[in-house]
Amino acid sequence: MESTHELIIFYKYTPVADPKGFMEWQRRTCTELGILGRIIVAHEGINGTVEGTPEAIAEYARRMHEQNGVQGTYGDFADVWFKSSPGTGTSFVKLVVKLRKEIVTTGLAQEEMVNPNQTTGTHITPNELKQWIERGEKFEIIDMRNDYEYAVGHFAGSHNSLMENYRDLSKVVPQFESLKDKKVLTVCTYGVRCETASGYLKQNGFKDVYQLEGGIGSYMKQYPGQDFLGSLYVFDARMTERFTDKYEVVGQCVNCGGKSERFGNCAWNECHKQIIICDTCAPLSKSIWCQEACKKERP
Ligand SMILES: [Zn+2]
Ligand SMILES: [Zn+2]
Repeated sequence: MESTHELIIFYKYTPVADPKGFMEWQRRTCTELGILGRIIVAHEGINGTVEGTPEAIAEYARRMHEQNGVQGTYGDFADVWFKSSPGTGTSFVKLVVKLRKEIVTTGLAQEEMVNPNQTTGTHITPNELKQWIERGEKFEIIDMRNDYEYAVGHFAGSHNSLMENYRDLSKVVPQFESLKDKKVLTVCTYGVRCETASGYLKQNGFKDVYQLEGGIGSYMKQYPGQDFLGSLYVFDARMTERFTDKYEVVGQCVNCGGKSERFGNCAWNECHKQIIICDTCAPLSKSIWCQEACKKERP
């Protein structure tokens, strides 16, 4: 099926020479090519999700790859990897390019901040992870995604970090104290959160830390229906991505406990946390809360 649009997700941690200039370059380039979406630029790299026609995306990728770190370019983006999927042309209504301190906000205090260009876990490919699993290697997987992402799908036997938001990173790490001397692998959707999460673990005394390159999405694409239970939560209108029809739904409705992958929100407006509410319970969603506390705080 030919798609009229293409959606790309990309990131790279690499020193950026002139972050403000690079931000303006991104803005000019995307505007000229009619590309919409969201791009964060920082001194430490770039992170973006954008959509455009396949021609526009190809041209954008070409220009990005020309930024190869030699004098006169903003940094070394010659090998930046674009995770592509068919677009709808309606994923974004505008272009937002921002200059920030970090390309993924960790919520860490200045003195605790992780620079993945200096400190990060060792990258392993999906193929290497498959080998670890097959030869029965001893290691622990810490899922660095939010709890609602974990709820619809996760690696068998992995630890749920119970994050509500990635800004909770420093709050959730202490619960894994007992894994400090073990071999630990962090995972997230496409790898970007693991760059800082695995670096943060190392900074906090975890001795043997790895991260899954390309994230869960890359693993599922290569090994559909294997080792990962359920489906992959994605941050766009699709909500979840499946790589095969042969999988078991692991998501559970917060109201009735039935198997479901349908997302709704906590009924308390100020919480609005994403929770799984099945089709049967959907009509009751105005009185379904993520936790008792939200029910009490309802105005
Ligand atoms: Zn239900
Ligand atoms: Zn709530």
